[in-house]
Amino acid sequence: KTPRIKAPADAEGADENGMIEVVPDSGFFANSALNLAYRQGPELPTLKYGFPDSHFICFPYETRRTGIYTAGGIRRPMETAKAIDDAVGAAMKAIQCTEATAIGMAVHPRAGDMTYPEFNMKRCTQCKRCTEECPFGAINEDEKANPLPNPTRCRRCGVCMGACPERIISFKNYSVGMIGNMIKAVHVPEEDEEKPRVICLVCENDAYPAVDMAGIKRMKWSPYMRFIPMRCLGSLNLVWIADALSRGIDGILLMGCKHGDDYQCHFIKGSELAKTRLSKVSETLDRLALESDRVKFVEVGISDYDKIPGIINEFMEKIEEVGPNPYKGW
Ligand code: SF4
Ligand code: SF4
Repeated sequence: KTPRIKAPADAEGADENGMIEVVPDSGFFANSALNLAYRQGPELPTLKYGFPDSHFICFPYETRRTGIYTAGGIRRPMETAKAIDDAVGAAMKAIQCTEATAIGMAVHPRAGDMTYPEFNMKRCTQCKRCTEECPFGAINEDEKANPLPNPTRCRRCGVCMGACPERIISFKNYSVGMIGNMIKAVHVPEEDEEKPRVICLVCENDAYPAVDMAGIKRMKWSPYMRFIPMRCLGSLNLVWIADALSRGIDGILLMGCKHGDDYQCHFIKGSELAKTRLSKVSETLDRLALESDRVKFVEVGISDYDKIPGIINEFMEKIEEVGPNPYKGW
């Protein structure tokens, strides 16, 4: 049965007892006690059953609002003794956050990162993609829909960079051009060499450590695969796919975290957004008259290292079946 909570004073849809149904991502967490000034609304976003969103494996106290940590029965059902321990953990996280943000550093999961997204506002079209897609509500808008970044709320995920159709958002150490140059640096063998070339854009949080572990365990896979790590697949910009395929790269594999209610994405919605963006890649493939099998998204958990050779080899077999990219050598 869907749980109900006391509705905030200004909420629509409350029943005769003043209660409102909690739906996933409803934005309703309690009543309006927090009253946060965020584009996405005044409350903490919640998951199923009305508990605030949190990365249940790696960052248990975190919420989608940087600097707000939850503990005890607010976070999940637990006994009082456990809640006391939990409160200590949340308080430690809050102290860490205060110290890091005071000197311009990011908190989890990119702890220590000193860069921020920079916006070349001269070319902004006020499309609102960055403000809508930021998983942490770190970008507000002015009345003309210009993005107003809040650096202390930012987790440096790069989702805004991947979302921007004008490609005007970049970091000092991460940009559309930087990944584009890494793709350009990948050698593409000539067609008569009969060696396919496939690149894997791999999330550095879970998928890359899984690939690394598979390598440490000396597992074997196709030698024609090249890996390019990304902060989060949510920073995927479709221009990389178009550029890679038009250079003659035979296939592109995207490895990201699991999404859904029990998501493992370190930036909450990054891999889900990448999958949504990828659904639009068919336009690019149609324009280039290429097969949809050349681009594939897979979810990889950090403990899935033993599945890596199978995932790669299966994709390579598909690419062999589809044949060489006709843009090779252009
Ligand atoms: S880097 Fe991530 S958290 Fe920061 S503004 Fe962009 S989308 Fe939001
Ligand atoms: S996504 Fe890019 S173009 Fe759109 S509002 Fe944000 S900065 Fe401007």
